[in-house]
Amino acid sequence: MSIIVDRFEKIKSNIKYNPAKIIAVSKTYTLDYIKPLIDHGHVHFGENKVQEADSKWSVFKNKNINIQLHMIGKLQSNKAKKAVELFDYIHSVDNEKLALTLSKCEKAINRKLKYFIQVNVGMEKHKSGIPINQLDQFYNYCLKEINLDVIGLMAIPPNDADVEKHFKYLYETNLSLGLEELSMGMSADYMCALKYKSTFIRIGSAIFGKRD
Ligand SMILES: *Cc1c(COP(=O)(O)O)cnc(C)c1O
Repeated sequence: MSIIVDRFEKIKSNIKYNPAKIIAVSKTYTLDYIKPLIDHGHVHFGENKVQEADSKWSVFKNKNINIQLHMIGKLQSNKAKKAVELFDYIHSVDNEKLALTLSKCEKAINRKLKYFIQVNVGMEKHKSGIPINQLDQFYNYCLKEINLDVIGLMAIPPNDADVEKHFKYLYETNLSLGLEELSMGMSADYMCALKYKSTFIRIGSAIFGKRD
């Protein structure tokens, strides 16, 4: 068996009793390199750059319509159109301008995506994500004013000892908004995220190896 598939199966065995799905984060890796996991039947893949994802996936995805592509990186409004054409999920909705642009692009090409609102749980200045104190208002805007199909919250917590606190916060907030999906947990912390009922863990290096 391919080492990639081997690593993937080990992670999967850790979540056997939990409905969480694994997003295999294939950023920086070529389609050839990740092919064993596709051939293994895995469908959820994550990318963080529109242009890279487009050149890597667009032709392949047209022929393999079961593939589900997740945009997990910072998204600029001027790339929204391409993103709506290519992706099935966007995890990084974090401001009104972007949200409005996405909803217009959906209408223009008659395609609906599923969205996560990214929350800046650590209130870090350099990190994207909607500030915690604006989340309720922003969620209502997405839901009621522009009709985006928001399915859950997403966060990249600060890399510190408090990661569990942030996962717990996101889990409770998600629940209080009545949302069903939760995008949290990466290679280093997914076990903790599973404890707080993450439904999409985003795993890159633990499957594909360290990136350059
Ligand atoms: C790269 C990336 C991941 C995967 O990170 P690993 O530590 O390699 O598992 C998850 N989420 C986001 C938003 C990323 O950019």
